[in-house]
Amino acid sequence: MKILAGKRGLIMGVANDHSIAYGIAQKCAEAGATLALTYQNDMLAKRVIPLAESLGSDLTLPCDVGAEGGIEEMAATLQKTWGQVDFVVHAIAFADKSELRGPYLNTSRDNFNNAMLISCYSMTELARAMLPMMEEKGGSMTTLTYLGANRITPNYNVMGVAKAALEASVRYLAVDLGKHNIRVNAISAGPVKTLAGAAISGARHVFRHSESQAPLKRNPDMDEVGRAGLYFASDLSSGVTGEVHYVDGGYHHIGVPTAETE
Ligand code: NAD
Repeated sequence: MKILAGKRGLIMGVANDHSIAYGIAQKCAEAGATLALTYQNDMLAKRVIPLAESLGSDLTLPCDVGAEGGIEEMAATLQKTWGQVDFVVHAIAFADKSELRGPYLNTSRDNFNNAMLISCYSMTELARAMLPMMEEKGGSMTTLTYLGANRITPNYNVMGVAKAALEASVRYLAVDLGKHNIRVNAISAGPVKTLAGAAISGARHVFRHSESQAPLKRNPDMDEVGRAGLYFASDLSSGVTGEVHYVDGGYHHIGVPTAETE
């Protein structure tokens, strides 16, 4: 059954075919959705346009969420082209790599502001820009977060602070948009090997540790995160909003690992 047949979705955050956004886009396309993809800059356009085409999408739009007016401009073009949108996936984050190592204490003012702007505020700005395209029929917005929002994970630093603010934004936006029947949720994915993931110092240690300690004894793959994205994009999750949904093999439940897994 094509549960997204006749639905239109905006996917933001594809950099390559390892991106979590691409995994979600694949599942949504397989479920019958018509997709529009954004790309951050011209360099990424060369990769994103063919990937969009492989998903049957002929609509790709530039959008640097850090640029003043970037989201509004993209949304204006989408509104002219489509008019109405059913779901949005926001899979965007950035912090200066040089501060995804060492103590959080050393976070600079510029990097703090930029990480918050791109990784957190962009979701709020996007929600506001998309509202005119979603308020009539309702819909769904999904963002991506990580356990480092609530627990300390090595070198995640300012990104953990930005993800904590993003998760709080999800709850506030769920209230603001709930009256329009627009649901807002976050997927908290376990470690996935992507460009953004590799920017965090010691990513390999975190990957291996989560893999060995998770109840399922593995990290999630792209397909699994993709299917969670499909659940949130579709009516399968029609009663769910303001949620942070873990797709991490159950890792976040563990307090003290059992002796035999040490
Ligand atoms: P990725 O590098 O494939 O995707 C990150 C995306 O952010 C890229 O497409 C990049 O172009 C985009 N981006 C960065 N700055 C931008 C800007 N100014 N304007 C527009 N786009 C911008 O990596 P990913 O791991 O797929 O990351 C997607 C999301 O998933 C991020 O929010 C990330 O924090 C989150 N996440 C990743 C993991 C993981 O282990 N990889 C785990 C949990 C959550």
